Amino acid sequence: PDPPVDFDFQSILGQIEEDIRPQIGRGQIAAYIPALACVEPGFGMAVADLDGKVYGVGDWQRPFSTQSITKVFALALALAQGGDDLWKRVGREPSGNPFNSLVQLEYENGIPRNPFINAGALVVTDRLQTLTGDASSELLEFVRQESGNPDVAFDPEVATSESDNGDRNAALAYFMASYGNIANSIPALLDHYFWQCSIEMNCADLALATRFLARHGLRADGTRLLPRRLAKQINAVMMTCGTYDAAGEFAYRVGLPGKSGVGGGIVAVVPGVCTVCVWSPGLDAQGNSVAGIAALDRFTTLTGLSVF
Ligand code: GLN
Repeated sequence: PDPPVDFDFQSILGQIEEDIRPQIGRGQIAAYIPALACVEPGFGMAVADLDGKVYGVGDWQRPFSTQSITKVFALALALAQGGDDLWKRVGREPSGNPFNSLVQLEYENGIPRNPFINAGALVVTDRLQTLTGDASSELLEFVRQESGNPDVAFDPEVATSESDNGDRNAALAYFMASYGNIANSIPALLDHYFWQCSIEMNCADLALATRFLARHGLRADGTRLLPRRLAKQINAVMMTCGTYDAAGEFAYRVGLPGKSGVGGGIVAVVPGVCTVCVWSPGLDAQGNSVAGIAALDRFTTLTGLSVF
């Protein structure tokens, strides 16, 4: 068991909210998915401790589009249900390229660099589809259970908008299929991927739903999702690949496993202590929340928490 920790998370969050105020509104709201472009600026942050007590500030209860953060849940479910065979089809190296890049696939025989770029996530969702027959519903049910919020739902407008503007993701899927690295029908796979990305959650929901990574693989109800080894390994991949071509900078500034999405959310894990979720939709050039990274940087500075 992990030793108890004694942080006044509520006052730390209050301090962070003050400190990062000048950063809110910086960066660009993702516009390549038109339904995301109309989000109002804001900032929210929540911490969930190991027992599921949640602390929050700002817009911590305001739902936003989780986008690539769902790649963590897809990976965890695919590994939990299908085991390490997945790693024959997707790597574990940082890509150093944008999240939607195609360029490495041709040199690397259709094997994406890691599960947290779009190409890798498509392979993971393909695996989950084979394992469950309904990847996006499986994922939605999982995050509802872990967050304890039965109202967590897909946003059909975002899913449709992604599908209408999904040529890049379709290209990734068809290209990988040409190497035999996609098993399911590609239109169906793309639908599951877009629905998965469209799930709306708030900071509290996401901090709670990622808690199995801080609890060494234990779910909210105390049952085991993953062996300890796999929880640790997913955290390692989040650390090295969770923020795309900014993962080195994220490790340098924040020092925790983290996963971002173009909806402006970022989750971070302090194994054995807590999870953190921050949201602010202004993104930097790599597609990571500007105020979100600043807030996590302050969080680890103020608490001294870090995996290093
Ligand atoms: N749905 C987005 C896409 O596939 C997810 C990307 C992201 O959050 N980085 O392009």
